[in-house]
Amino acid sequence: MKTTLRKTIRQIDVMIAPLVLSAVKELNALNTYLFHALFKDKNELSAGIADPQQQVTVDIFRQFIAYHKEKDYTFVSPADVLQGLAPDRKYIMITFDDGYYNNLRAIPVLEEFNVPALFFISANHVLHNKAFWWDVAYREGKKAGMTDEALLAEKKYLITLTDDAVDAYIIAKYGPECFKPVGDTDRPFTPAELKKFAQHPLVHIGNHTCDHAVLINYDAEGIKEQIGKAQDIIADIVGYRPVTIAYPCGEFNDTVLQVCKQEGIKLGITVEHAKNFSPRLYEPDNLLTLNRFTIWGNEDLKSQCDFFRSDYHVLDKVKGVLQKFKAKG
Ligand SMILES: [Zn+2]
Repeated sequence: MKTTLRKTIRQIDVMIAPLVLSAVKELNALNTYLFHALFKDKNELSAGIADPQQQVTVDIFRQFIAYHKEKDYTFVSPADVLQGLAPDRKYIMITFDDGYYNNLRAIPVLEEFNVPALFFISANHVLHNKAFWWDVAYREGKKAGMTDEALLAEKKYLITLTDDAVDAYIIAKYGPECFKPVGDTDRPFTPAELKKFAQHPLVHIGNHTCDHAVLINYDAEGIKEQIGKAQDIIADIVGYRPVTIAYPCGEFNDTVLQVCKQEGIKLGITVEHAKNFSPRLYEPDNLLTLNRFTIWGNEDLKSQCDFFRSDYHVLDKVKGVLQKFKAKG
């Protein structure tokens, strides 16, 4: 389907979502949400130090939780999911990827509402105080006058590479010093900070590979190393081996799932935008490919949440019809 058509239909879906929700009871499911960096405010976002990503500030994160509390969602931890969720409620699980120090800002908000969150850590970034490549590419690219389109194209290219190849590309372009974080905005946790953070009762720690590896770009040995070593490093720091993983960029394959099982990982999260309905949650294999929504700070929060909660989307219907046409040839 053409992108413009898809965008138009999505806009219609966003518009009708509140009507759908007021007319039809929302289906019970587990909705999982993805966050990355948590910016202090709009000034920090536009400072050019880090890739603004989804542009989520602490205030937006707070509104997001308040919205779901009001809609009677039950907030769950990975342990709750693994124990099995009763199918008679709506659940939500909050996740943060990468291991930014600025995720510490989530704590007062989590405490205010008494809700848990799951933080996925890229282990070597923490161990070596190394900035994330997309922040370096953004910061240095902007300085060099690159356009947003060029930055996006570069990002799309770099996620097709292994971490070594990404590092080589960035260092060739900007020099070896560029991976030094600028400050608290873009730096990962230190091991000591992560250790303390992980002790908070509302904090759960998961695997995000050693080097933020997009795992489908690696052979079996590479996949094993990226997941297994991250398990070791994280266990050394926080005192337990994670039972959860978020696949960097949501990418996985059969080898990845196999390695996860060997490493004792029971819950894996993708970036497929969909709810997790309860039959899926009873199958251990399905728990390794949970769906997850992404929230954007530069779009209306209520509209996004309504859209994700709605169980009727014109876009799905159109896709279904197109598939039927295709099948008929
Ligand atoms: Zn990530």
